[in-house]
Amino acid sequence: MSETTPGSGRLAGKVAVITGAASGIGRATATLFVREGARVVCADISGREKQTAADLGESAVGVHVDVADPDAVKRMIATAVEEFGRLDVLFNNAGYGGPRGPLTEFDDDIFDRLVAVNLKSVYLGMKYAIPAMLANGGGSVINTASTAGLVGQKGQAVYAAAKGGVVQMTKSVALDFATRGVRVNAICPGMTWTALAHRGDEGPPPADLIPPQPMKRWGMPEEIAAAALFLAGDESSFVTGTALPVDGGYVAR
Ligand code: NAD
Repeated sequence: MSETTPGSGRLAGKVAVITGAASGIGRATATLFVREGARVVCADISGREKQTAADLGESAVGVHVDVADPDAVKRMIATAVEEFGRLDVLFNNAGYGGPRGPLTEFDDDIFDRLVAVNLKSVYLGMKYAIPAMLANGGGSVINTASTAGLVGQKGQAVYAAAKGGVVQMTKSVALDFATRGVRVNAICPGMTWTALAHRGDEGPPPADLIPPQPMKRWGMPEEIAAAALFLAGDESSFVTGTALPVDGGYVAR
């Protein structure tokens, strides 16, 4: 589907903030949300956030943010309300994998940054977004965890710990707001063909690079975006506190 293919208005009238929106899963989700009628704040640290929003047209604005910085996250949420008048959806999606190897070889500052970007960011996003959602009757928070938050991940202990923290924080915050109209869910992507995985090789996945997922293929960012659309919209009105694997069967093995 092209970025201009019309959708069916599943998010008509809603305002969303998406972090990590300039690439991969976040960009695919911003594209889908706009197509489905949402207005979207595209937040990223890369410097590509304004161009990403410009590519999506008048329904999107770009915001430069480090999701580990409380003041920046606060400003990001305020931008949604200032630009579009409300906030309905927060997709806490920015993250990165960091170096691979046993933690005995890690510098402590790598631990701190991995936890800040992958876990503290989710805390900060919810802390500042939920009051804005409550102000207009509720909303939907979607946190990007990982299959690494559900099962062990060789060589990525700190990333896995942070993503496991995202899963447990999701469930706990869902309980805190279950009666107040704010739903909180996580998506646990399996290996998905984005910059995080291919590290700069923009083409389709090479035929000889098959990840250990039962479907024997990579996930594509649009397949994760489709799950985010379900969790963002009213079709998931009775769904909260879930951690949904979108992983070609990886955690079912
Ligand atoms: P990606 O690298 O294509 O996109 C990540 C985006 O996040 C980038 O645009 C980057 O600039 C942004 N970002 C990174 N640190 C940031 C920060 N501190 N503040 C603001 N923005 C920041 O990767 P992706 O695969 O689309 O990753 C999206 C999420 O999915 C991440 O949380 C990642 O951990 C998770 N995930 C990815 C996979 C996979 O296989 N690709 C699997 C499981 C989970």
